[in-house]
Amino acid sequence: MDEELRELYQQVILDHNKSPRNFKKLENANHSAEGYNPLCGDKINLYLVIEDDVVKDVGFQGSGCAISKASASLMTSIVKGMKKEDAERLFEKFHDLVTGKLTDENEIEELGKLAVFAGVRDFPARVKCASLSWHTLISALQDGKKVVSTEE
Ligand code: ZN
Repeated sequence: MDEELRELYQQVILDHNKSPRNFKKLENANHSAEGYNPLCGDKINLYLVIEDDVVKDVGFQGSGCAISKASASLMTSIVKGMKKEDAERLFEKFHDLVTGKLTDENEIEELGKLAVFAGVRDFPARVKCASLSWHTLISALQDGKKVVSTEE
């Protein structure tokens, strides 16, 4: 990872870890899911309010490492207001990014702040921390109410 991206990565992780966005349970959620990454011990409960296939509101609670928390915080702030299908498409891109499949620099740049997570692709265990909240999002969008694990 180049120096600039590394610095940005640390900034984003620190910032979202210190003051996570949307860190609350939504009492009016109509979609929810629970995610668990047993390798690291990361847990997340995700709450969504979906209306007309749009993510109207989103909140999460959980405990885990800095990467999982920062990733969840960033994910919730990005998908809020997004159409369901766009969020699903973004998940695919994010997944390709952290697993090292997305290499086109323009496409990576389009991901905005999410691009900083490119750094985890060299650390397979961290890929799961970074993608846990996204897997949980997909489960919740498909009307989960079930537990997803990164080990399935
Ligand atoms: Zn973790």
